[in-house]
Amino acid sequence: MNTIIERYHVVTARIEAAARTSNRAASDITLVAVSKTYSADDIAPVLQLGHRVFGENRVQESQGKWPSLKHDHADICLHLIGPLQTNKVREAVALFDAIETLDREKLARTLAKETQSAGKCPELFVQVNTGNEPQKAGIVPEQADAFVKLCTGTYGLTVTGMMCIPPFDEDPTPHFIQLAAIAERNGVSKLSMGMSGDFEIAIELGATHVRVGSAIFGART
Ligand SMILES: *Cc1c(COP(=O)(O)O)cnc(C)c1O
Repeated sequence: MNTIIERYHVVTARIEAAARTSNRAASDITLVAVSKTYSADDIAPVLQLGHRVFGENRVQESQGKWPSLKHDHADICLHLIGPLQTNKVREAVALFDAIETLDREKLARTLAKETQSAGKCPELFVQVNTGNEPQKAGIVPEQADAFVKLCTGTYGLTVTGMMCIPPFDEDPTPHFIQLAAIAERNGVSKLSMGMSGDFEIAIELGATHVRVGSAIFGART
């Protein structure tokens, strides 16, 4: 049996177990299969299993592989989970069904303009830099509430989720707790948190979306 398929089944079983432990319905947790660096041939077996939600971190790479896959499977839901430059917003709006990395005013302004002219808007998640890491994307936690208000009030965007990437060398628990608290006080219901190494903890702390790459597709080179 294909090892990607085997690993996919292991991941979904682990999600179901974590949901049970937390008294949550597994159906309330969306697995975003992160296929960055993997080819359409690697993605095909996962699509054949019926999986439809995928994550990519680069617009250009995604433009190379997803239009034809989307042509074949109209119900694919593609999430952008990497930083978005304003000069790529038009392409991103055309291709992605969710953008998880809304994190600055210039991007909000450009998204407002481009979604208006496209006549459609991907689902939007605000990325929060819960670790206050200078090199990392995301709005810092102290500015998150004001930023959500700016996106919704000034730019008329609908923010439905929040996303974080905790510092890689730290316990993710306080970061997940903080993201959940920010989302709750801003009336935002979706929480994208948890990756291959920590998605079970994220599910216990309320994740509605877990972004899992290497545990499904294998280590990236
Ligand atoms: C690559 C990536 C993931 C998946 O990471 P794994 O550890 O391979 O599961 C999740 N989120 C973001 C933002 C990523 O860039």
